[in-house]
Amino acid sequence: MKVTRFAPSPSGRLHLGHAFSAALGHAHARASGGFFLLRIEDLDPGRCRPEFVNGIFEDLAWLGLAHDGAPIVQSHRTDLYAAALERLKADDLVYPCFCTRADIAQSLTAPHGDAGSGYPGTCRGLPDDPARRENTPHSWRLDAGKAIARAGLPRWTEEDGSGFESRRDDIGDAILARKDAPSSYHLACVVDDADTGVTLVVRGEDLRPSTPTQRLLQLLLGLPEPTYLHHPLVTHDDGRRLAKRDLAPTLGAMRAAGADGPLLAADLIEGRLPLGFRLSRA
Ligand code: GLU
Repeated sequence: MKVTRFAPSPSGRLHLGHAFSAALGHAHARASGGFFLLRIEDLDPGRCRPEFVNGIFEDLAWLGLAHDGAPIVQSHRTDLYAAALERLKADDLVYPCFCTRADIAQSLTAPHGDAGSGYPGTCRGLPDDPARRENTPHSWRLDAGKAIARAGLPRWTEEDGSGFESRRDDIGDAILARKDAPSSYHLACVVDDADTGVTLVVRGEDLRPSTPTQRLLQLLLGLPEPTYLHHPLVTHDDGRRLAKRDLAPTLGAMRAAGADGPLLAADLIEGRLPLGFRLSRA
């Protein structure tokens, strides 16, 4: 029995790529007599809008992809993420970071910046300064070096049985909580996948780079290990990614044009795409 989830961010209307991901997750759950969960990833206050949450419900209903149980709404669950962060703090695996985006951009272009990890490590190893933490907005970062020393480099298994090993360079000092958002995508994702009993994570290949960090967090927090299915992405025929500004492939536009939602969902899982689109490996 598989428990899958579809976890869109309500920062725009769903498009064909979302429909493919949701249809695939739904099919795996139903074929195994399991559950298909819907999770609204609305932790980024700058990008998420309530009207897009309604759009998600409407689009899934139109596709005929019923989810089990109530939707899981991340902005209602921040206590869980805070508790996980406290545990990582107690284990000395995270550190406060006071850098602004501009600081980071500047040090990455500096000659000694560690461009590979995306963060030069400026605040790693600073002596703890509770007064500064009290008075200065800051985020919390994973100390990837310490974490890997503790848990080892994580591995994961894909649904087809293939095994993957992460390399040191795959994991940086990821932000786990921000001043304006109580949890980052990575932390909320692993906490929720575990808390809701997800056994198969179905998502696009574009999210594969997140998997090493998320597997590492699962090891550090003692969470169960799901299997992963990173699927090809829906692109335009010429290989271009679907962008938020493309209106044609939104499900709302297809519905308005009279398309049949359940037929579209069934076609997508068979790999039959509407004219002008195809599945592409990243
Ligand atoms: N919220 C993410 C997105 O919309 C998906 C997260 C996931 O499936 O792990 O891209």
